[in-house]
Amino acid sequence: MSVAAHIRFVLVGTQHPGNIGAAARAMKTMGLGRLVLVAPEKPLDEFALRRSAGAEDLLDAAPVVATLAEAVADCRLVLGCTARARRVQLEELLPELAAQRAVAKAAEPAEVAFVFGRERTGLTNEELQLCHLAVHIPSNPEFSSLNLAAAVQVLAYEVRMATLEGQAQPQRDPEHGEEPASHSQLEGLFGQFGETLEQIDFHKGRAPESAMRKLRRLFMKADLSEQEVRLLRGILADAQRMARLAGAGGN
Ligand code: SAH
Repeated sequence: MSVAAHIRFVLVGTQHPGNIGAAARAMKTMGLGRLVLVAPEKPLDEFALRRSAGAEDLLDAAPVVATLAEAVADCRLVLGCTARARRVQLEELLPELAAQRAVAKAAEPAEVAFVFGRERTGLTNEELQLCHLAVHIPSNPEFSSLNLAAAVQVLAYEVRMATLEGQAQPQRDPEHGEEPASHSQLEGLFGQFGETLEQIDFHKGRAPESAMRKLRRLFMKADLSEQEVRLLRGILADAQRMARLAGAGGN
């Protein structure tokens, strides 16, 4: 089963059915299918259907329960989305990190819920206490509250990104020398770099250590493959050969 199958979005006490439809659409665009409604103020209506824009399968499948506790009873990770900093002592995460934690948990597999509050008043403190962590989209502190479906979209997007990162194909092709270079291969490259810089008189009296430190940092950051190390060493070998020829010519 896919990771998404273990992640539900719970909307608590939603006031406008249109927002539920828009939330369903936001979820479906990001590959999420499990919507749970806790005591919505009004039943789903034509506004919900219209704003779902083709995601009515999520609306049809959405269980309606009476309390948040019921909605998350089987969850091992519950993330409460809040527009404001609360008094409740919960660790507060950025959406990206929250999504990474959610996807990691769902992959175990374990059930995970993102919880969203009422349009007017958000989640109560009691509801937030049912959550393991709070998630805050770092919005304008003076105008911090997103539309419910917009907040759902942000979190659904982050969950998708975290899922795609988990599935990322290895970019290297081991058949063609694209294995990451080993430590000793890199040391070989750095050694040859040091010799070559001497031979082409790069340092001109300056201490060689500073240039070598910078080059090391550059190549460490570059995450070189074996093939790339071979290419660089080939270029250095030619530079060394040319330096030797120039030296011989000068004598
Ligand atoms: N006036 C309410 C805002 C409700 S907006 C309040 O101040 O709490 C409806 C829901 O969207 C919120 O309960 C929350 O779940 C989500 N939401 C809105 N803005 C958010 C933000 N900046 N970060 C995280 N969730 C947010």
